[in-house]
Amino acid sequence: MRTIVIATRNENKIIEIKAIMGNSDFNFKCINDFPKIGEIEEDGKTLRDNAIKKAKITALKTGLWALADDTGLEVDYLCGAPGIFSARYAGAGCSYSDNNAKLLDELKGVPLNLRKAAFRCVMALSSPTGDIITVEGVLFGKIMEAPRGINGFGYDPVFMVRGTNKTMAELSSEEKNSLSHRAKAIQKMKLCFIKCR
Ligand code: IMP
Repeated sequence: MRTIVIATRNENKIIEIKAIMGNSDFNFKCINDFPKIGEIEEDGKTLRDNAIKKAKITALKTGLWALADDTGLEVDYLCGAPGIFSARYAGAGCSYSDNNAKLLDELKGVPLNLRKAAFRCVMALSSPTGDIITVEGVLFGKIMEAPRGINGFGYDPVFMVRGTNKTMAELSSEEKNSLSHRAKAIQKMKLCFIKCR
């Protein structure tokens, strides 16, 4: 059975990626299983730069296939912000609820029809020698005026999924994993996983 290292320390992402992959023939490990890897700074100019950097460093340091996910929330009214700065939108060391509070504050008084947004997930798969494949999954929706729901993580409670009347945090994990930006990216990546066998 081939091993793929998921190049993130975000427990929520690891759970979602494993669930979306389902009963695959892969043994998944994560970056925490390799303490020598250390912190990988996300200093790229794009989500793609960051995903490639995380996947490549992890693969080269472990000698294994590595899969990285870099995701951003892009809000039309805010010209695409927080985008690549989604994790630290409210400042270094901020919590998910700090980020959501800042986002709702920035959009205070903005009518619902101008609150269009998208989650963009770029995934990079690196071979043990650093050859890279990238794919992208996008999910459209709107930013609500107040958080709703308790599932998921990050911006899920404020993101209303297009075509539903629910925020992402009101969806079950099965529902989120059937339609999310991450699920779309992994579906595109599935053909590439054949190379890892
Ligand atoms: P990164 O890909 O770890 O840099 O993620 C950036 C930030 O985007 C995270 O800290 C979360 O706040 C948010 N994020 C990433 N994926 C999701 C998701 O599936 N739902 C909600 N927020 C997410």
